Amino acid sequence: MRPRFFGTRKDWQMAERFIASRREFLMAGGSLAILPLASQIAPGAVRSRIAWASDPFSLGVASGEPSSSGMVLWTRLAIDPVDIGGNPKGPIEVVWELSDDPSMKTILKSGKIMATEALGHSVHVQVHGLESNRWYWYRFHSGDASSRIGRTRTTPGSEQMVDELRFAFASCQHYESGLFTAYEHMVTEELDLILHLGDYIYEGAPGRSSLRKHNSPEIVSLDDYRNRYGLYKSDEQLQAAHAYAPWLVVWDDHEFDNNCAGLISEELWVDPREFALRRANAYQAYYENQPLGVGSMPIGADMKLYRDIAYGKLASFAMLDTRQYRSDQPNGDGAKKLDGGAMHPKSTMLGSQQEAWLFAHLQESEARWNVLGQQVMVGRVGRSSGESKLYSMDQWSGYDAPRKRLLGQLKQMEQANTVVLTGDIHSNWANELYEDFDKLDAGPVAVEFVGTSISSGGNGYAKSKQEDELFRENPFIKFHNAERGYVSCRVTQGQWQTFYRTVEYVDRPGAALQTRAEFVVEHNKPQLMG
Ligand code: FE
Ligand code: CA
Repeated sequence: MRPRFFGTRKDWQMAERFIASRREFLMAGGSLAILPLASQIAPGAVRSRIAWASDPFSLGVASGEPSSSGMVLWTRLAIDPVDIGGNPKGPIEVVWELSDDPSMKTILKSGKIMATEALGHSVHVQVHGLESNRWYWYRFHSGDASSRIGRTRTTPGSEQMVDELRFAFASCQHYESGLFTAYEHMVTEELDLILHLGDYIYEGAPGRSSLRKHNSPEIVSLDDYRNRYGLYKSDEQLQAAHAYAPWLVVWDDHEFDNNCAGLISEELWVDPREFALRRANAYQAYYENQPLGVGSMPIGADMKLYRDIAYGKLASFAMLDTRQYRSDQPNGDGAKKLDGGAMHPKSTMLGSQQEAWLFAHLQESEARWNVLGQQVMVGRVGRSSGESKLYSMDQWSGYDAPRKRLLGQLKQMEQANTVVLTGDIHSNWANELYEDFDKLDAGPVAVEFVGTSISSGGNGYAKSKQEDELFRENPFIKFHNAERGYVSCRVTQGQWQTFYRTVEYVDRPGAALQTRAEFVVEHNKPQLMG
């Protein structure tokens, strides 16, 4: 993993840029609070001896961005999760502690950090100086309150080849559509890492669900977004999954707005300036509510979320952002034929900077497995048959030239060791990826595992009516299913194993877990073996 710039001059330059951009933003008519500089906080103004009326750690704890020497520890104080936290005004002191035993008898590291109103009373602690490849436990204190204990770990050292990595990935957790039962099962597996590939929250107004309700109309302001995270993060099963292992998160569209493409709304009447202000709110709340490093702090309406995280020499995760830099969905969005804008040579999915970064990363990578954690399906899946085949313009199919560049890059690599992980579409798919989907004889260049939703779409179903046609028309698809759940992976030097875990229902608690399909990929052989 490349060194990050925590605790250095650059760190502070970064923070100052953030503050400066907030000021400019405010002067330009933005409504966001300015970050208080440490020097502006009068000593007496810090709240360190609060007698809390109720639990300020109601949103739980989390960790993320693991490296071989540390990770980010996260919490956000909130006695009222859906009313901007409901905390006392002003900065509040939070103490963090880290231990190498689950009962936290010996404290290895600890410190104090300020939870400020400007960042929604969230804290992000960057821990350094830990041993590689081992588990740690952590908790927070504020005034007379203490958080639950969370478990986290460091990754193996950059030169270390470990025998095994186990991780799970999830996406799409619409709060009203169903319970997060999948997480209850996820934490019974042995996992080193959890990935979330987007749609962590949904931005919409309350719907017709009688199961659970969104707390407000469609979210627009910073406080709207904060409160929506408060609602989602109150979920106990989600909290348990965060406390269980470090997470790597990336967003999709609903953390901001459905089917957004850069600063273009799916609703064509939306003023791009208003849309940019709204995106600044969405991105700030995202940062506040996720265990992300300072490198991902938003600057105005921009936030750099793409990054790579190494798991020793066994695996390298490139976490991608397919929303912020893409060109607009072609052909008027929706499902369309593969022509016109979908084939435009200048279209972009990652933006030129991220694409160049990704290709350089893949060329340099010495990892046994290169993992792309991203949002929208790469496989060229066509619905219905013959002349009238339609493709989703929101997925890589709407971006044919960038997809060809990506798959061309994967083909060129010395080792055919790329595994693409995808979310977004509330269904499970296992695809073999071809450089040219019209020339399957050339053989696949990579594999793609698309994971279903945690809850979005409600109970779901195991088999669709068009299933036979789908497989006939798209022979590179090896599995499809639309139940709810998550995907679990076991990675060794020689083999990658994927397990599609599903729950039968999400409209009531207690659904049992099933494994609907299993696939094996052998190293340097990008083929799905059942
Ligand atoms: Fe979704
Ligand atoms: Ca989505």
